[in-house]
Amino acid sequence: MKYPEAMQAIATEKALSFLGLTARKNGSYLNFPCIDCGNESAIRYYGERKNVAYCSTCKAGTNIIAMAVKLKGIDFQEAKKLLVEKTATTEETIQEKLSLKYELEFTIDMEKEGLSKELCDTVGVGRPKGKTMLSGCIAFTIHNETGLKVAYYGIRISDRRPKFHQSFNPELYLFAYHVADKNEEVLVTTDMFSCLRHLAQGEQAICNFGLPYLSSRQMELLSPFPYITFEWLFTDKKDIMLNVAQNLKAYHRFV
Ligand SMILES: [Zn+2]
Repeated sequence: MKYPEAMQAIATEKALSFLGLTARKNGSYLNFPCIDCGNESAIRYYGERKNVAYCSTCKAGTNIIAMAVKLKGIDFQEAKKLLVEKTATTEETIQEKLSLKYELEFTIDMEKEGLSKELCDTVGVGRPKGKTMLSGCIAFTIHNETGLKVAYYGIRISDRRPKFHQSFNPELYLFAYHVADKNEEVLVTTDMFSCLRHLAQGEQAICNFGLPYLSSRQMELLSPFPYITFEWLFTDKKDIMLNVAQNLKAYHRFV
């Protein structure tokens, strides 16, 4: 894999953890201890400058591969290959129907989120019964754009962190996309629960799994809609607004 492709393929958070560095999300960056001075440094985890880092103490830029070179004592080609192998997310959409079937329960936690039992039962959202990979999570049934059930996506109740199988790359899908009428107005939200609340109101709503960006695949999926309202629950909206303006023809607004 060439350098630019590798920089896009390497999953930043996984790569930092693989290199033994603790990371904390901070808007469009991950903060982690600089490998030279130990002070807080920042790395982009998506977009054009994905995996490019900067330390304001050292006043120096670096990138995830160069960091692996230093920390692992290997050469650049080896480091690039290693990080891609260890962290790259799949770029292939799932083509087979998921055979796994959870029995999903509507719980008090879900009621507290203002969710409707009827809607959750209809779209396949709930707490999986028994011991599963998504124990302690609210599980969302995920379909591809043609309506084929491809995965479960979990949100852990205790800390709201996402949990899902590695064969599922959220960048390649949009939640509730298959049921939306592409000729009508749609709301795109970054909050899975908000998406369910809007759907329960009879509105068309889609969620991008809480990512602070839209991948090129997600942008492509949104292209048929004539009117899109973005409920973008991140403070920094500059990048996404620019990206949407450049890539979507739809009338759109941010709320
Ligand atoms: Zn530094």
